[in-house]
Amino acid sequence: MKILLIFPGLHHSLAKKKRRHKEFQLIGTTLPTLAALTPPDIEVEILNEYNHPVNYETDADIIGITVMTSHASRAYEIADEFKKRGKFVVLGGIHPTVLPEEASKHATTVVIGEAEGIWEELLKDFQNGRVKKFYKAERFPLPHEIPIPKRGALDPKSRGKRLFSPKIEIMQVSRGCPYNCDFCCVTKFFGNTYRFRPVDSIIKEIKSLGKIDYLFFQDDNIVGNKAQAKEFFKKLIPLKLKWAGGTTLGTLQDDELLDLMNKSGCITMFVGIESLTIPFAKNRTYLEDRLEYYYKTIEKLHNFKIMAYASFIFGFDTDDTKVFEKTVRFAQDACCEGAAFHILTPYPGTKLYEKLDKEGRIFVHDWQYYDGEHAVFHPKLMSSKELEEGFEWAIREFYSIKSIAKRIWGSRTRPFFAIPWNLFIYFDRKFNHQ
Ligand code: SF4
Repeated sequence: MKILLIFPGLHHSLAKKKRRHKEFQLIGTTLPTLAALTPPDIEVEILNEYNHPVNYETDADIIGITVMTSHASRAYEIADEFKKRGKFVVLGGIHPTVLPEEASKHATTVVIGEAEGIWEELLKDFQNGRVKKFYKAERFPLPHEIPIPKRGALDPKSRGKRLFSPKIEIMQVSRGCPYNCDFCCVTKFFGNTYRFRPVDSIIKEIKSLGKIDYLFFQDDNIVGNKAQAKEFFKKLIPLKLKWAGGTTLGTLQDDELLDLMNKSGCITMFVGIESLTIPFAKNRTYLEDRLEYYYKTIEKLHNFKIMAYASFIFGFDTDDTKVFEKTVRFAQDACCEGAAFHILTPYPGTKLYEKLDKEGRIFVHDWQYYDGEHAVFHPKLMSSKELEEGFEWAIREFYSIKSIAKRIWGSRTRPFFAIPWNLFIYFDRKFNHQ
């Protein structure tokens, strides 16, 4: 028996516009984790469509496709093609979990929730010829039930060319997030739980990766539990790695934690600042105080030789057209080595989606545009066109040569990483985006 697991690429209508460097289209740990959950007597192959086209004539018995909202249009297209050929198609991931009925129109069966436990059940049912339409996880897997992903199942052609690019591996050490932001679907999928894998299992996984240049932790918050994170960072120190991860600003007030991050090889921390216009819900802190707090936190990261990669979202109801310049100037003045700008996106299953839908403000329903780069709703204080143009301007301005020079000179933190990284983004925007 054979299973083909697919990480879908972009829908053809966006693929041209967003030509991306193939070697950086890493598939994360979802499909290798499914491969690890599969009994060893079943052959599993993983295909990354960004790097290799789908072969619809495959001899695989089961086609499994992981679906995030922005990939849903393409995933459904692939699923329909396989179904036409009589293949058994399984859809799973965040999008089918939130919209199982929609996904089931394109699949033989849909996996709802995290796969541990139900994937094995589905495979048994398939072998016994009595498969259900839906497989729903009744509980969140415990940390020790999360297996070490089987990366060897990834088809070598799907890895992308790595001639001059660094060897980067992605890992996930936890699941879930203790917060529940209105615009985020993490909690919907992983619950309001934070589950950190056993540290020994994580270290074993890292050692199995061989020689790597960078390790990227894809966790939504690598410091969801400070005590566990500190224990983990201590055990990372002897491995002499270079790694990047993400957390919230609040956790970065702890100097002991920052020191351990630095000593364990953290070179970049992704921090979600998200908005400079929304007042803090609880105490309505004045913006000036908050800006001061943000500046100080980024300075702290720099003091511990960690580059700051800040994330911002445009399009909140408090944002007018001045938000773009305000945000970019802040990120420049704080000397962030990197910034990710996003357009607020009402992902299905979030409170934001419910609110905007109720207000009749969502005007795009094609999931491929739910990628954080398109306005799919009417913002309150500007037009959707102004939102998209402002977003594009922010990226161009932040990654302009003048801005790169100013920020990197100002931060003086790991310039040998920051300069090539910024120039890569500058040239990528210049030549790969239409
Ligand atoms: S946006 Fe970040 S902090 Fe908020 S719920 Fe999602 S992962 Fe957690």
